Formats: sequence, structure tokens, C-alpha cells
Amino acid sequence: MSSPQFDLITVGGGLGASALAISMARRGARVLVLEKETQFRDRVRGEGLTPWGVAEARELGIADLLLKTCAKAVPCVEMGFGPRNLVETTPQKEPFFTYCHPEMQEVLLAEAERAGAQVRRGVTVQAIEPGANNAAVVAGDGKNEKVSARLIVGADGRGSAMRKWAGFETQKCPQPFHFAGVLLTGVSGRDDMVTAIFNADLGMIVGIFPETKQRCRAYLGYPTELALALQGSDKLETFLMESKRAVPMLNEMYAEVKSVGPLATFDVSESWVDHPYRDSVALLGDAAATNDPTFGQGMPTALRDARILRDALLQHSDWDQAGHEYAQQHDAYFHNSRKVCGWLRTLFQDPGPEAQVLRQRAMPLIAQDLTRVPDHIFSGPELPADDAVRARFFGE
Ligand SMILES: Cc1cc2nc3c(=O)[nH]c(=O)nc-3n(C[C@H](O)[C@H](O)[C@H](O)COP(=O)(O)OP(=O)(O)OC[C@H]3O[C@@H](n4cnc5c(N)ncnc54)[C@H](O)[C@@H]3O)c2cc1C
Repeated sequence: MSSPQFDLITVGGGLGASALAISMARRGARVLVLEKETQFRDRVRGEGLTPWGVAEARELGIADLLLKTCAKAVPCVEMGFGPRNLVETTPQKEPFFTYCHPEMQEVLLAEAERAGAQVRRGVTVQAIEPGANNAAVVAGDGKNEKVSARLIVGADGRGSAMRKWAGFETQKCPQPFHFAGVLLTGVSGRDDMVTAIFNADLGMIVGIFPETKQRCRAYLGYPTELALALQGSDKLETFLMESKRAVPMLNEMYAEVKSVGPLATFDVSESWVDHPYRDSVALLGDAAATNDPTFGQGMPTALRDARILRDALLQHSDWDQAGHEYAQQHDAYFHNSRKVCGWLRTLFQDPGPEAQVLRQRAMPLIAQDLTRVPDHIFSGPELPADDAVRARFFGE
């Protein structure tokens, strides 16, 4: 085998890939980022980074850059229990960071280049050849080319083809909800507060994330069986109407809104691979595990992945060992987080009769003592998620 051209190739140049590329290139690694978009556009993705994700961004050395360029620090959250200041109440002592997702992608990819990574845009990876040659087959400028690396990182998002190319088996857990989002201006209300309110009778959730330039990312989660097909500008009225039906205070907040981006809807079903490393290929971010976006764990997890993989690669000269160590840790934090999000979905969103019975017992206890609600989505997946935590949440 001839020596590889790069230490690391990332397939994709989204949040997860660029965070890893910045961090590794700053430490002298030869990094190549392959990204198919020449200019990022609004794909209706995550725009609220929870406090434990902000702490990960600090560890990766990108938090200040985000704040200086595209992010807004939003300290409070309202989930229907009264405003909560996250800076005062999370172990990380951090706020939400909110940003327009494509603006954040541009900032981080430019930073990866500044840090010394080679960034190629407008190229599409079409296949990989894992193992001895460990190469990616790249199409761009009308020709195909092979580039090799010690490690190929699949960071190609929720529709990841890398999973299949590298021979991983995808696990799936269907969920009966959809999640729609659109960028709005003209939302009235506090711009230092994220609003995320469930209406369990309807199986809905509304999320509103104030961003820079007086914009807000608005989300609506709803049962798939409603078949609302919230896609395209002619469905904006339905999106707004259903949001107001779920949370009546939006009648006032949404009185003067305009959309400034596409409206799109996603199936929230989870999909992941177990142990996202094999044969010199690691998966990271949504490619490794696509979370239910309702709970906003996708971006913190992508950043955690980047940090854990970086630390393992820097610690071990044997990158095969590093890859396995990363994958082992990934499984632990992803599944802890997934378990707790499942509990939250049952008690706060599931409109079915069994969940209603659970709510009758649990909600009065939670109203008296909010610490019964596991805080993983804000404070991180290393919080305990054992039977005692579950029993306390469900009031058993
Ligand atoms: C509606 C919705 C709302 C969400 N809300 C939140 C939220 O509030 N908070 C939160 O934390 N998370 C949220 N998420 C999840 C979050 O957006 C993702 O977890 C995060 O963007 C994943 O980042 P990534 O880098 O793994 O993937 P991506 O951001 O998808 O990046 C993948 C990149 O790879 C490129 N690519 C793909 N295939 C190829 C190829 N073959 N060759 C070259 N390039 C390729 C793509 O162009 C893309 O730039 C939400 C998701 C959705 C769908």
C-alpha cells in the first residue's frame, strides 16, 4: 500500500465534519473536507444548540468564533413551566446558541480552511474503498478521482450513503410524528428566550428559537396521522394555524409573521448504526445516529462525536484502536440520550390513552418539583438514566 495522501478525509462538510476538521487541522493533521454544496442553503435543520452542545463547541475551540460571526446567546427557555435561566441552572453554565444553520456551516468550513484543512466544494463522493487503499471516489469538474487517507470519516448527514458503502447495518426505530420548520421574521416575544411547549392532548410541540437579524426558527411537531404535508410556501398558513391551535399564546406572537425561508417537514423516526467504526472508516453526527429532532440533540451529539473522535486520534498512534474507542463511547452517550428522549416523548407528547394515564399520575408531581424531569437535553447525556430516574419522572 502506498502511503495515504491525507491523515483524514471527511465525506461532507456540515457541522460535525467541519468541527472535527478545524480541531485536527489546528493540531497539524493533513485533513481533506469533501462537500457537495458550493454554497449552503436552508435545508431546515437545527438552529438551537443546547447548553451541553455549547460546552462541546468550547472544547472544540469554535464557540467564540460562532458568537463573533453568526450565533446569538439565548439564556432562557420556556417549556410551559415558567422561564428558566439555563446559564444559572445547567452544570455547563451556558445559554442556548442559536444561528441560521447555513450561515454557521459557511463560517465553520471557512475556519477549517484557515486552520489548514484542504476544503473541496462542489464535489460529490460517490463511493469509498475501505481497507488497504482506504480511498474515497470523488466526482467533480467532470472527472472521477480517488483520494486516500488513514481514516475516512462519514459525516454525510441524515441520508448517509457512507453507512452502506462502509458495510454498516442501519438500525431503525419508527416514531409516529413529523417535525416541520420554517424561518420567520416578525415574531413578537422575548428575544432572550427559546420557547418549546408541548400539547400532549394533540400530540404536538411548538419550538421558537430567536436568532440574529430579528429572525426566528419556528418548528411544529405533530402526529404523522394528521397528514398535514407541511411542505412549500402554500402550506405556511396551515403551519401557523396548527401551531396556534397547539399553543394559543402564538395567536399574538405570530400575528405579524413572514417566512424568509423554505417550509419543510421530516419524519422524526430514529436511525443509527451500532459501533460507528470499522475498517478505517468512522461515522459521525447524523451519519452515525439520526436523533428525533423534537428534542434538539442532533447538533450537540455531532459536536460530542467530533471531540471524542479527535481526542482518541490524538491519544493513540494506532488509529484503529482510536476508532474503536470512539465508537464505544458514542454508543454509550447516544443510547443514554435516546432512552431519555423516549421517556420525554411518552410523557409530554404521546396523545395515546396509556400515556394519558401516566400523565395523570406524573404531571401533578412534576408541577410541584421540576427536578423530577431528567435534564439530559440541556445538561448532557452523562447524567444518570437508570430505573430510579425513570421512576421519579413517571411518579412511580
Ligand atoms: C427539522 C429539523 C430540526 C432540527 N432541529 C435541531 C435543533 O434545534 N437542535 C439540534 O441540535 N439539532 C437539530 N436538528 C438536527 C441537526 O440539524 C443535525 O443533527 C445536524 O445538522 C447534523 O450535522 P451533520 O454534520 O452530521 O450533518 P449535515 O448538517 O447534514 O451535513 C452533512 C453534509 O454532507 C454533505 N454531503 C452529503 N453527502 C455527500 C456526498 N456524497 N459527498 C459530499 N458531500 C456530501 C451535505 O451537503 C452536508 O453539507 C434538526 C434536524 C431537523 C431535520
